Amino acid sequence: MLRLSPRQVRISAMTQPFHPPQRILLGPGPSNIDPRVLQALVKPILGYLDPLYLDCLDEIQSLLRSVFETENRVTLSVSGTGGSGMEACIANLVEDGEEVLVCVNGFFGQRLAELVQRWGGKPIRVEAEWGQPLDMERVRQVFKDCKARLVTMVHAETSTGMRQPIEELRSLRDIRDAILIVDTVTSLGAHPVRIDRNEIDASYSCTQKGIGAPPGLSPVTFSERALEKIRSRKSVCRSWYLDVQLVDKYWSSERVYHHTSPALMNYALREALAMILEEGLEARWRRHERNSRAFVAGIEAMGLKMLVAPEPRLWTLNAVRIPEGVDDARVRSRLLNEHNIEVGGGLGSLRGKIWRVGLMGAGSTENNVLLLLSALQKILPQEGFRIGASGASAAALALGS
Ligand SMILES: *Cc1c(COP(=O)(O)O)cnc(C)c1O
Repeated sequence: MLRLSPRQVRISAMTQPFHPPQRILLGPGPSNIDPRVLQALVKPILGYLDPLYLDCLDEIQSLLRSVFETENRVTLSVSGTGGSGMEACIANLVEDGEEVLVCVNGFFGQRLAELVQRWGGKPIRVEAEWGQPLDMERVRQVFKDCKARLVTMVHAETSTGMRQPIEELRSLRDIRDAILIVDTVTSLGAHPVRIDRNEIDASYSCTQKGIGAPPGLSPVTFSERALEKIRSRKSVCRSWYLDVQLVDKYWSSERVYHHTSPALMNYALREALAMILEEGLEARWRRHERNSRAFVAGIEAMGLKMLVAPEPRLWTLNAVRIPEGVDDARVRSRLLNEHNIEVGGGLGSLRGKIWRVGLMGAGSTENNVLLLLSALQKILPQEGFRIGASGASAAALALGS
């Protein structure tokens, strides 16, 4: 009899196609993807200079401008996840030794400060407790007292579920000609970002959260003021791959080869953006707001508490405080194994303290809200938390109103 070694057995199993289950993704991203967007991933691949593919890229730029609500010519998708757009903004805009004002009240604000440092800048931090809003008066004061022109802020802090009022940033221009960089990774396509109206100079997002496409691209936009600063750099951008001037030469009329454009990913992005505009930005924001409110109504009816106060609360990322005595990991693993639902745990200082529930993109649905609440309603009493009332009924009531 033929005997296979353990290694051969493992390899032989791997020659079978991978069959991932259909999960309900209610974590901090990726979110579930509409079949129409998934279908785009199996269309025939085109070469990166094929005229038909270049048309597709032009369409993506127009669609992205509509979703970002900007007229910025340089609006495109960087090849890489949200972090690549974040790094592109910092690497291109920050020069050696330059002071950069960084607003920090969560994990991603901290990462911005780290990136500024890694790319040779000097981060000047304005901090608030995680989950608490930043005091704009203090931001203005610190800006006045330093030499920074660049100011960075996370619009939707995915680590806490808090929304920062980016519309207040432009008041910094009364002090100096600030260049405003905003992280819209968990807000684009789900919350108003209004790049032009808010006078934001550079912004980056991702495809797998509010946009509803697979992870792998990072939509970015740069204003003429931001580009002017980039063009007048004393030293060349240290990243060749993320050099926005080189990337733009491919995306704009010159069509100079820079890297092989990930065609299938861009088809999917195009489809997801088209779906956003088909639904309508306003209608999409309302859908996210409504489902988040219903979820919160259900959570509070059960006697659980949200981390963030109602006003600066995000619709995309809902942070629920884990009640005393309830085991974080056990509940999340039961949700996954018994109900096929993924929710996120806390990051950094909020580890073990919150669950991060994403209701974004195609995942922001009434059904998902009711499903998760019913699952919690079943699990929590078995895990030692006495629930007050039916969360699912409270949410259903909220949805009916
Ligand atoms: C997810 C996220 C990122 C990073 O995006 P990746 O796609 O994971 O690289 C950056 N900023 C915020 C606010 C995020 O939520």
